[in-house]
Formats: sequence, structure tokens, C-alpha cells
Amino acid sequence: SNAVLAPTIQLIDGNNIPILALGTYGSDKDKSRMRQTVNWAVEAGYRHIDTAALYNNEREIGEGLQDVINRGLVRREDMFITTKLWDNNHEREKVVPALQESLNRLGLEYVDLFLIHRPSSEDENGKPLNIDIVETWQGMIEAKRLGLARSIGVSNFDAKQIDRLIASTQVIPAVNEIEIHLSKGQADLVNYCQARGIAVMAYSPFGFLVSRDIPNPPPPKIDDPVLVNIARKYGKTVGQVVLRYLIDRYLIPIPKSTNKARLEENINVFDFRLTEEDCAALSQFDSNTGIF
Ligand code: NDP
Repeated sequence: SNAVLAPTIQLIDGNNIPILALGTYGSDKDKSRMRQTVNWAVEAGYRHIDTAALYNNEREIGEGLQDVINRGLVRREDMFITTKLWDNNHEREKVVPALQESLNRLGLEYVDLFLIHRPSSEDENGKPLNIDIVETWQGMIEAKRLGLARSIGVSNFDAKQIDRLIASTQVIPAVNEIEIHLSKGQADLVNYCQARGIAVMAYSPFGFLVSRDIPNPPPPKIDDPVLVNIARKYGKTVGQVVLRYLIDRYLIPIPKSTNKARLEENINVFDFRLTEEDCAALSQFDSNTGIF
């Protein structure tokens, strides 16, 4: 087969993580394709899937996982499954039950990685709360202690917030999942995390190369000559070049696709490396412009 496996790296807690993940956030149409997408993705070589309670697709992903296991393509232990705690479950005593509900929907006994989706909290009606992130983190530590999450981490956290978690609990998040792409390089936060052994997952890796429903998106466009020329040199697409750029920064990109050809394209990034000159040219597009 033409399957491409992503290499793995070791997290600070000793567990191994594949360095490219399938993104799964999308429309209702994407959700209806998610079971099929997981089958295609595993066939293509994906072993890491990124979901969240918020995405409302854990059941479909669980069905896809059951399919690929039943088909003999993989065993559970070959897969790395990431899900996230939503804002309405930040109370310490709600964390483990919320994870249990995600596990029930996924049809799993554990996830490989459980993340606090955002530092902000809210009640059941969406009204903002001010729950201390340290309280939530203690619930996450309990989830790991119980074996329901092999690794625990955060998403959308800044350096100060991570400092507080570490100072208060002595437990370093294994991962921080943040927005990173050509227009938002996040060098300072990446350096902060990597200096502490925190792996950084890069969400929305295609940035503004794809349509974002935003009035004046920053450059570059997908046909920018700088990008096209670099891609041509390696015999790769612009999409593959921007994913490779993230990997060369020791980041874990999370490209989302529900299209079979683009799924295959997006994981086929482990047979080339960008030169320092190419990386420098790509870094010029950083305008600290985010989508979210
Ligand atoms: P991406 O940067 O992954 O872009 C996805 C879009 O690009 C889709 O429209 C997809 O369409 C299209 N696309 C995919 N591959 C290609 C390609 N090779 N060439 C051209 N277009 C392509 O954006 P997301 O915002 O979805 O981020 C990725 C993932 O990160 C999410 O799915 C989610 O898992 C995670 N995330 C996490 C957040 C957090 O707060 N922790 C926030 C946002 C995202 P198609 O499907 O038709 O191929």
C-alpha cells in the first residue's frame, strides 16, 4: 500500500506521540463523513486523531475506529486519540465524568491525550465563570492517575497560565495545542513550551491559505510565487510545504480534511526537508494574524 506513517516523539511523561494528527473540526457535512474519513485516514497511515467534546463527532470517530480495528488495519494501541474538555466542565469534580462521557461516545477505555480545550470556563447555560485553571488541572491529573487519559495537556494556554499550573501542581502539561501557521508563527510561546519539554500541536496549519470567512485575510495566497517556487523545487504542493515547515520547527501539525486525496497528500510530508533558506523565506509571512 501507499500508506505513510508519521514518526513519533516522546512526550515529557514518557509516552510516544505521532508528529502529525488528523484534524476533525468541521461542518455538519464533515461530521456526516467522519466515519468514512477515519477509515480513509487510517488506510493512508494516520495514527493520531484530534477531536473534542465540542466537535460533536466523537461517536462518528468511534465508529470509524471500530471499523479499522475490525478490518484488522490497526489495534487500539496503534492509535493515538486526543480529545478535549469543554469550558462547561471546568469544576474539578466534573473533569473525570466529562472524560468518561467522551470515552463512552468514542467507544474507548482510555484516550492517549486529554486537553483542557481553553483556559476559559462557563456554566451549563454558557454564562462565563471564573474557575481557576489550577482546579481544572487537578481534575486532569486525577484523570491520568485513573488511567482514563495516558497523557494530559492544555490548549490555547499562554506562558503565564502554564507557569501557574506547574508552580501549583509540579505536573507539566505534556502538550499545548495552539494556533500556528504562516501568518501566526507564535515563536515566543513555542520557545517557552519547547524549553520546558512541552510538545506543541499546531492547529489550523493551513492558516489563511484556505478560506476562513474573514473580510481581509493577510497574505500569502495559495498561489504566492514564493510558496509555489519552493513547492516546485521539492515536487510537493504548497499545502505539503507549509506542513513540512511546521514539522521542521518540531511542531505537530493537525491538518483537517474529509477528502480522500487531500488526506493522502497531507501525510505525505516525511520524505523531504526544507533548507534553512526556504524556512527563512516562509518565516517572512508571519504577521501575527490569527483566525480565532
Ligand atoms: P486546517 O488548517 O486544517 O484547514 C482545513 C481546511 O483546509 C478545510 O477546508 C480543508 O478542506 C482544507 N484542506 C485540507 N487539506 C488541504 C490541502 N492539501 N490543500 C488545500 N486545502 C486543504 O484548519 P482547521 O481550522 O480545521 O484546523 C485543523 C484542526 O485543528 C481542526 O480540525 C481541529 O482538530 C484542530 N483545531 C483545534 C482548535 C483548538 O482550540 N484546540 C481550534 C481550531 C482547530 P477539505 O476537508 O475539503 O479537504
